[in-house]
Amino acid sequence: MSGFRLMAVHAHPDDESSKGAATTARYAAEGNEVKVVTLTGGERGDILNPAMDVPGVRDRIHEVRIEEMAEAARILGVQHQWMGFVDSGLPEGDPKPPLPEGCFALVPLEESTEALVRAIREFRPHVMTTYDENGGYPHPDHIRCHEVSMAAYEAAADPERFPDAGEPWKVQKVYYSHGFIRKRLLQFQEEYDRRGEEFPMAEWLKKWKTEQGDLMARVTTQITCGDYFPQRDDALRAHATQIDPNGSFFAVPLEIQQKIWPTEEFELAKTRVTTSIPENDLFAGIHEDGQQ
Ligand SMILES: [Zn+2]
Repeated sequence: MSGFRLMAVHAHPDDESSKGAATTARYAAEGNEVKVVTLTGGERGDILNPAMDVPGVRDRIHEVRIEEMAEAARILGVQHQWMGFVDSGLPEGDPKPPLPEGCFALVPLEESTEALVRAIREFRPHVMTTYDENGGYPHPDHIRCHEVSMAAYEAAADPERFPDAGEPWKVQKVYYSHGFIRKRLLQFQEEYDRRGEEFPMAEWLKKWKTEQGDLMARVTTQITCGDYFPQRDDALRAHATQIDPNGSFFAVPLEIQQKIWPTEEFELAKTRVTTSIPENDLFAGIHEDGQQ
């Protein structure tokens, strides 16, 4: 299928390369228009790669992250738009410190929604992806990303809302991207056991809190995209200040990932078209002529 438009809404630069990245690369490669929208500039992200924590990077981190994002988008083959909000940072400590003034999570929802509505009405995506109500992980910007995306999905279609932000547009479906699938790691572990080798993420898996169960129970849609895992990894490595190339993300070799779990997982959150679950295509049920 080709000729559709997909908008992936993310909180920070690098999120687009770790959540649903191979899916965006696949749809772009197959002739669809794919746009990543990044809500914040990632201003409060630390330098997480020791090799990049050097003068000349630290003192121009803002520009560096813009360059990294442009490179990641080029690798994935997607368009990219900055929304211009300011990273809220991940508050740590007990009690947690208040969020910094002016940060994205404190911008009134009405204001951030209008900005995203404008972007939606310009790009006119058939499908949007965002995070679930828990943000995928509990960063205030990720939770806000969910709230803004869901509000904009409704408001973009409503001629009464934000009439100065463009012609109304009905996004047909919105999905949550689910990256933290416990079953996936368990299957990798089984493969290592079969090979008689030590699973490099065994510690990680042991620490995984299981009270909420596996998000796999919420997954409605699996996109086969193993051929695009190399692009995903290259895009992630393009965020060199944020990603330790020796980190757990790269611990399981691609050939094992491609063999054991060659998909990315999504949950259909809202739809304006009829579709049947489970799906293997984000555009299932949508006609190529777009609206209705
Ligand atoms: Zn993030």
